[in-house]
Amino acid sequence: MTHITRRRFGTLLASTAAASTLAAPAVLSAAKMRLAIIGGGPGGATAARYVAKGSKDVAVTLIEPKHHFTTCFFSNLYLGGFRTLDSITHSYGTLAAQYGVNMVHDVAVDVDRAGKTVKLGRGTDIGYDRLVVSPGIEMRYDTIEGYSAEASTAMPHAWQAGTQTATLKKQLEAMDDGGVVVVAPPPNPFRCPPGPYERICMIAHYLKANKPKSKIMVLDAKNKFSKQALFQEAWASHYDGMIEWLPEEVTGGVKAVKADSMEVVMDDETVKAAVANVIPAQAAGIIAKRAGLTNDGGWCPIDPHSMRSKTDENVFVIGDASVASAMPKSGFSANSQAKVAANAILADLTGSKKFPAKFRNTCWSLVATNDGVKVGADYKGGDAKIEVTSKFISKTGEAADLRAQTAEEANGWYAGITKDMFG
Ligand SMILES: Cc1cc2nc3c(=O)[nH]c(=O)nc-3n(C[C@H](O)[C@H](O)[C@H](O)COP(=O)(O)OP(=O)(O)OC[C@H]3O[C@@H](n4cnc5c(N)ncnc54)[C@H](O)[C@@H]3O)c2cc1C
Repeated sequence: MTHITRRRFGTLLASTAAASTLAAPAVLSAAKMRLAIIGGGPGGATAARYVAKGSKDVAVTLIEPKHHFTTCFFSNLYLGGFRTLDSITHSYGTLAAQYGVNMVHDVAVDVDRAGKTVKLGRGTDIGYDRLVVSPGIEMRYDTIEGYSAEASTAMPHAWQAGTQTATLKKQLEAMDDGGVVVVAPPPNPFRCPPGPYERICMIAHYLKANKPKSKIMVLDAKNKFSKQALFQEAWASHYDGMIEWLPEEVTGGVKAVKADSMEVVMDDETVKAAVANVIPAQAAGIIAKRAGLTNDGGWCPIDPHSMRSKTDENVFVIGDASVASAMPKSGFSANSQAKVAANAILADLTGSKKFPAKFRNTCWSLVATNDGVKVGADYKGGDAKIEVTSKFISKTGEAADLRAQTAEEANGWYAGITKDMFG
């Protein structure tokens, strides 16, 4: 599993300490400037690759406990039967072999910002001149009574791809025809705003073909959502009568869960689920808080021209953990922010040219076979925050061939962006 909960932090420490097969970090040339990166997801992997290919004078160390990374993007397509887990899982081999990135498979447990060192689970310290923090998200289990890392094995959030996603798929395959699948999307801000609604489409696609008497009940923590008109059009045209979306103003949102009895509790109603996909509120990954980089909301404020932390000029925060204002928390955003940060880091460490910050994002969603929709924007570093310069969104009622083209475009994007991240 990608995600590191507070509870798992200790367990991870113990297991990484015991993992004698892990290679020790390579000894780096003393003459080189040092970049350390915490987290090998879309943000961290892209930053590692771009700084490493940008200068031979910067030694790049990427700290990531996992040896393979399964992307959340396209994990909904795995639930729908359009992708295998293998096809969305990537190795760090090319970053190490072709770009000379020093891979350290361990957990960063603390950051000494005054001493410019990252403390690892196995006890080693990694020194740095600049640090990138890209740990993704932490699940705020405490926002739903009865929910926890343990309860999530029975009621998976599947909001970090890997084991959780595989569990959710197995549960869908095991349930009886005629059961109720509860999907509980989280409150804002959260990773991938269209993600829960694409997931509803992909679960419906699977159920329609395999368990057509089943229903999906969506117990939303919000009253509106990304690409709403497009998703609701798709629900009516492809999965008529199967999906019931209940906004927060109707149910009050999910207040508690009882994993033993598979019950989901709202203000005035309790639903018994065959499968419950409960996605709680989120915050920046724990290490960001431990490093003192978060605000009261649990996210990391940044300078919109560089992704430099507002707390520490030697630290950059990218990806989901950052406060990137208008940009959604997406893999595309993390990749785009990583390139802006890489340019600023190379300027700091090697004196190379710093370009004005430009960002880009598009979120594609597959709603049915050969039916894709998208929303996206270009951005720039503004006076106080990242600002939109232009934007677009698919329209309802588009022709089938345009939708098929959008779905195909997403496949091309996946191949290209994962190569840009992992080499
Ligand atoms: C269902 C779903 C569908 C999605 N679809 C899309 C999509 O179509 N397009 C899109 O662009 N985005 C999509 N996303 C969003 C996208 O997956 C995230 O925005 C993206 O993964 C964020 O990248 P990141 O690098 O910030 O964090 P992550 O991907 O979470 O990577 C963080 C990494 O840091 C590591 N880490 C954490 N703490 C530590 C520590 N203390 N020490 C060392 N390592 C640590 C973790 O192991 C992890 O590998 C989707 C998300 C979901 C859940």
